[in-house]
Amino acid sequence: RRVRLEKYRERAAMTKDGHEVSLLANVGNLNDITHLAKTGVDGIGLFRTEFMLMHCSELPDERSQYRLYCDALHALEGQVFTIRTMDIGADKELPCLPLTSEDNPALGLRGLRYSLAHPEMLKTQLRAVLRAANHGHIRLMFPMVNQVEELDRVFALLEECKQELIEEERGFGELSLGIVIETPAAVMNLPSMLPMLDFVSIGTNDLTQYAMAADRANPQLTRDYPTLSPAILRLISMILQSARAQNVRVSLCGELGSDPRLVPLLIGLGLDELSVNTGMALEVKAAICEADYQRCLLLAGQALMADRLEQLNQCITNYK
Ligand code: PEP
Ligand code: MG
Repeated sequence: RRVRLEKYRERAAMTKDGHEVSLLANVGNLNDITHLAKTGVDGIGLFRTEFMLMHCSELPDERSQYRLYCDALHALEGQVFTIRTMDIGADKELPCLPLTSEDNPALGLRGLRYSLAHPEMLKTQLRAVLRAANHGHIRLMFPMVNQVEELDRVFALLEECKQELIEEERGFGELSLGIVIETPAAVMNLPSMLPMLDFVSIGTNDLTQYAMAADRANPQLTRDYPTLSPAILRLISMILQSARAQNVRVSLCGELGSDPRLVPLLIGLGLDELSVNTGMALEVKAAICEADYQRCLLLAGQALMADRLEQLNQCITNYK
């Protein structure tokens, strides 16, 4: 299998008939970044920055975060670098952050909500990212955004950080800004948020959990609520329609993108980028390179008409 995949490492992620898809990696530590060159991707589509909190006794300060982002930029040598602000919630064990226990952590203070409730902590990260962006381009995205008011608040904090940096005469760079689409509300509110955004990324792990009201970590539910089903497919299609109408780039960073079997369908739906587990990157690239875009478009049209899971799977299996 390794030998079969080896030939794709240096190839561009492009279908047989010349349709390009950007293939990026989901990364959760600095070590992964230094090994990225071996995985054949075009950069990082999701840098899960809360990993910084997993093994430390205190919150990383601005200086150490700035260094980390600069090291990552350096290792990436100009490739895409997408940072997600810390996705913190009571579902995670973080020694340096005693979190208030909640009955429903998935529905509680998490993602951007948590960050907005702790603006000083968020500002430390925003300042570090802005300063690092002076040394290379950074895309910054926010997790668990539901509505435009949350964007107003985080953008106001970004402006505050820029003003402070100007007054302190510190250099900073402009960012590309995006959100992770993880809730049905974000899908419905997308048209009002898109004018403020440069890109969006679909977080199918949480989007599926919240659309189906099915805990993503509960093994009893996975059989009835698989990663892709007609409802999730329609949500993805709605996102793409909204984004296309406003010319905004769409990425997908959930686990779904790491399944090579689903790649032709995802390409056919019109995704511009797939951000995948590093371990699956070559498999996914092979699936992109072996796909025929015209057939992917037909597959997407058929799949969107499937009312049942079985029909949907049949469409996917028939594409060979
Ligand atoms: C997602 O929800 O799909 C996602 C990419 O974020 P995480 O898995 O870190 O929640
Ligand atoms: Mg998520």
